[in-house]
Amino acid sequence: MKTQEYIALEEQYGAHNYHPLDVVIQKAEGVWVTDVEGNRFLDCLAAYSAVNQGHCHPAIRKAFIEQADKVTLTSRAFRNDQLPLLYKALHDMTGFEMSLPMNSGAEAVETAVKAARKWGYKVKGIPEGKAEIICATDNFHGRTTTIVSFSTDAQYRDGFGPFTPGFPIVKYGDINSLKAAINPNTAAFLVEPIQGEAGIVVPPEGYLKEAARLCKENNVLLICDEIQAGLGRSGKMFAFEYDNIRPDMVIIGKALSGGFYPVSAVLSSKEVLGVFKPGDHGSTFGGNPLAAAVACAALKVLKDEKLIERSFELGNYFMGKLRAIKSKHIAEVRGRGLWIGFVLDTKARPYCERLMKEGILCKETHENVIRFAPPLVITKEEIDWACERIERVVLSLD
Ligand SMILES: *Cc1c(COP(=O)(O)O)cnc(C)c1O
Repeated sequence: MKTQEYIALEEQYGAHNYHPLDVVIQKAEGVWVTDVEGNRFLDCLAAYSAVNQGHCHPAIRKAFIEQADKVTLTSRAFRNDQLPLLYKALHDMTGFEMSLPMNSGAEAVETAVKAARKWGYKVKGIPEGKAEIICATDNFHGRTTTIVSFSTDAQYRDGFGPFTPGFPIVKYGDINSLKAAINPNTAAFLVEPIQGEAGIVVPPEGYLKEAARLCKENNVLLICDEIQAGLGRSGKMFAFEYDNIRPDMVIIGKALSGGFYPVSAVLSSKEVLGVFKPGDHGSTFGGNPLAAAVACAALKVLKDEKLIERSFELGNYFMGKLRAIKSKHIAEVRGRGLWIGFVLDTKARPYCERLMKEGILCKETHENVIRFAPPLVITKEEIDWACERIERVVLSLD
């Protein structure tokens, strides 16, 4: 079948909740994907950072297949021999006392929200039904009805109310706005250390450090959503490390499976995750042996291949080359690690379409930002190859 035939099927029988570029991918390896016509593209989105380890990484694939031959799902009604190893690996790699596994990122965010509220009532002593979790403007934490209740993006909310109460909004990056919102009923502050979907927005220097201090002073949990920023994308294991802080809860997902399978988790302390008693919360697939085996392998690849250090170094290299492009439409090049927001003063979609013709796949976010976030296994030569084409496209549209 040809590209147009696949697209026709999708348009006719699938809900139109996405507007994908018209490329139909058939296979992928490392940073490269191949479409049904045999065209090759450099993937500069990496499935929104779920394939930090590169597409179809052989070591993760091996773990996936070996585990699929043994047992894939036990449910948490019984124990399995893979989940304990994931708990240990997460503890050893991150230093957090405990974790709670889920599947999608949004489910892990929901888990963190439930943990924070319950902690607020049972430990902090907030009166029943009054707990507040402060969120930031332009946040992205997923798509459930509770999560879109604290989105400030009109489209994410339109038509989906009534909304879940209890989520005051403060201005991202503005410490005084946070200070003013904290009150005795505040259980937590939920924040992305760098906002991904908002366009790779890095907050002002010292913001997170001061937020952490305020949270501590007021007995408020600091929850960092590292689903996109974490696991090497920002050039550190976690983006919060740039501010030398230690959040009370960290939410991870996406690259936790290297793209093989939805795996997410909440990392925290015994004090916080200890609020969950048997039966309080759960998921049929959460913590299944296939997910655990894949996640252990995905974490091991990050470490063995030094992908976090690589992201830091090559991110600076990539950003430097992008900043050297002289175009009247480039407003800013920002980011950390291999997570770059290429900000234009005009619509980004035509650029993405032209880049696709040149063999580079990337996606606009918020109209005028192109996100360059290739798998972390990308080489310097591949970055050079990409920059040559990016420059050509940008200058042709000047
Ligand atoms: C992608 C993302 C989520 C949601 O993850 P899903 O797996 O799509 O539910 C939440 N928070 C952030 C920061 C994300 O980038």
